[in-house]
Amino acid sequence: MTKVIDGRRIAKEINESLKARVENFINEYKITPKLAVVMAGGDPASLFYVKMIAKSCERASIDFEKHSLPSETTEEELLKLIENLNKHKKVSGIIVQVPLPKHINQERIQEAVNPCKDVDCFNPINMGRLALGKPEFLPCTPYAVYELMKRENIVVEGKHTVIVGRSNIVGRPMALILLQKKQYANATLTICHSRTNDLSYFTRQADILIAAVGKPEIIKRDMVKEGAIIIDVGTNEVGGKLVGDVAYEEVLDKASIITPVPGGVGPITNVMLMQNTLKAAGNLVVSE
Ligand code: NDP
Repeated sequence: MTKVIDGRRIAKEINESLKARVENFINEYKITPKLAVVMAGGDPASLFYVKMIAKSCERASIDFEKHSLPSETTEEELLKLIENLNKHKKVSGIIVQVPLPKHINQERIQEAVNPCKDVDCFNPINMGRLALGKPEFLPCTPYAVYELMKRENIVVEGKHTVIVGRSNIVGRPMALILLQKKQYANATLTICHSRTNDLSYFTRQADILIAAVGKPEIIKRDMVKEGAIIIDVGTNEVGGKLVGDVAYEEVLDKASIITPVPGGVGPITNVMLMQNTLKAAGNLVVSE
């Protein structure tokens, strides 16, 4: 019988304990952790996502502040805002919502975020720390997968994990997280991407398969091993419906454990952002 992981339940559980820790933090230090979100231009997907972040903040008792700039904002103006937020004592975490308008160098902006407040883990210093196995923050989506695996007691050590996707947001940091020398990591890994020849040759060997491609239902039934654990990070809109990278219905009875889309990894991601914001608030207190 396949176990279908309920990401909404896990997100709720994490949030309950997080909210209690935030409230303890507020009582102890008389500071409310605050997340500042910066966006430029009115990208509809970004607007929706920022609304979800605001809700997550509310649920975790974390303050939320939105800086919504017009699309003609210059790079220098954006850098100035980041500099102010970096210095601001009440701001614990900063995220810069992408995409930014085309005339703005996204990497330059992300690098400008103080690594201590970089709760999205986009600053190269934080990604470098993760690559060295000494992370300060974990990027929220692969962090959500890691947390889900821990909570469902999915032991990676001793198994063959195949990750499809090597983006800086999901696939690559996912690999780095699972390579750490610690419990629920110590993975033996294969990473596939668009230049992989014969993708199914690799996916069929996966005891644990993590799909982070962004191609609806690219992982078909004949591409997975009997009894595999399947984590689907993909979120693709098809005809107004959200579908994953895994052909869920046809793969379901072949997997031992599977995450659905929607309702799998997605709901956990924003809670991990809240967790990083509390950690950042703690770092600020220690550094004072
Ligand atoms: P990217 O487009 O940045 O990366 C996709 C990766 O998949 C790339 O490494 C690419 O290879 C690889 N790829 C593309 N086509 C193929 C193929 N045919 N065979 C094998 N590999 C392929 O996407 P993201 O990593 O940002 O996102 C991946 C998915 O995860 C998306 O559906 C996205 O919506 C979802 N997502 C979900 C989140 C959540 O909270 N649940 C949060 C973030 C993303 P190459 O490097 O060679 O181009």
